[in-house]
Amino acid sequence: MSKRDYYEVLGVGRNATDQEIKSAYRKLALKYHPDRNPGNKDAEEKFKEAAEAYSVLADADKRAAYDRFGHAGVSGAGAAGFDPSIFQGFGDDIFGGLRDIFGDIFGMGAGRRGGPQRGADLRYDLEIQFEESARGLETTIQIPRQETCETCRGSGAAPGSGPSICPHCAGRGQIRYQQGFFTVAQTCRQCGGSGRIITRPCPDCRGAGQVARERKLSVRIPPGIASGQRLRLYGEGEAGAAGGPPGDLYVVVHVQDHPVFRREGDDLVCRVPVTFPILALGGTIEIPTLDGTEPFEVPAGTQSGHVFRVRGKGMPSVNGRGRGDLLVAVQVVTPKKLTREQRTLLEQLAKAMPIEKVKAPKDDTEDERSVFDRVKDIFS
Ligand SMILES: [Zn+2]
Ligand SMILES: [Zn+2]
Repeated sequence: MSKRDYYEVLGVGRNATDQEIKSAYRKLALKYHPDRNPGNKDAEEKFKEAAEAYSVLADADKRAAYDRFGHAGVSGAGAAGFDPSIFQGFGDDIFGGLRDIFGDIFGMGAGRRGGPQRGADLRYDLEIQFEESARGLETTIQIPRQETCETCRGSGAAPGSGPSICPHCAGRGQIRYQQGFFTVAQTCRQCGGSGRIITRPCPDCRGAGQVARERKLSVRIPPGIASGQRLRLYGEGEAGAAGGPPGDLYVVVHVQDHPVFRREGDDLVCRVPVTFPILALGGTIEIPTLDGTEPFEVPAGTQSGHVFRVRGKGMPSVNGRGRGDLLVAVQVVTPKKLTREQRTLLEQLAKAMPIEKVKAPKDDTEDERSVFDRVKDIFS
């Protein structure tokens, strides 16, 4: 198929001014625009043919080359019909030219999709042990994510080629048409709204511009981190589209329960079983801490359930400011099995401590009346 002369395509003379070329193209583009001729292959060919002719004749250098050498003088305009990549290299001029032409018709300048877009944020759930949350840790996590394709640097086009302006929407990314009184705007189906199409897709990412990768990342968990807190790793999320910045990675920390400690803020709470004689007489017991057990003095006359506060033995503060406290609740344990000797001693104790004389502990009640007196009040 022999190529038609560009002047003939646009229906203008060889001496046509830029303005005449522009308005001739504009008429043709409107007449043969694919949105006005859906499914009409002939119109589509004419539209492309006009776009090709205009892309050459609107450019002074290209036009001069064409005037001297004909089609052979215009590089990039392939013999096999319209190659959208001829737009490439024309830079903003041809883009601007098209914008001028379509601007007043279609209301160009409306937001184009497909520009640089920030990549999506990612979430990674990391389970750690209680001791690790107290001491902090450095660990390696492996996250599957989309990364910018190195082969095409994210463009999606095969090396040596590049994305070309979408001929369907002339780079606008949107198609507008009149429907009754309304102007309807639709995302261009050909380019998905980006205004650009890839003629030769990158072999490594198949045109996506991104590839799925398993990436190993080193994460430093600060001491004192609590369950549900998250770390933000800037720029470690999914790659951005069309040159946009990458998203962030959020590492959400889940701390396993501890068999002994419960965390409340930066304080640690634990229960320690104690015998009745120790509570009554006072004595030394062992209490658990994050660094192992240590001795603790229980004063005489301690009530079961009393909570002792051991300063600075709690969790380290995650922002590095000091440590919480350790709250030790002592709890009397009642023996289920007794030796003969224990039984005898307890029976003697029971006789020496008649139940009617037992007063409620002072720090639990407003008065020192016996439990029985108060029960009587309630039921009488
Ligand atoms: Zn690629
Ligand atoms: Zn398009």
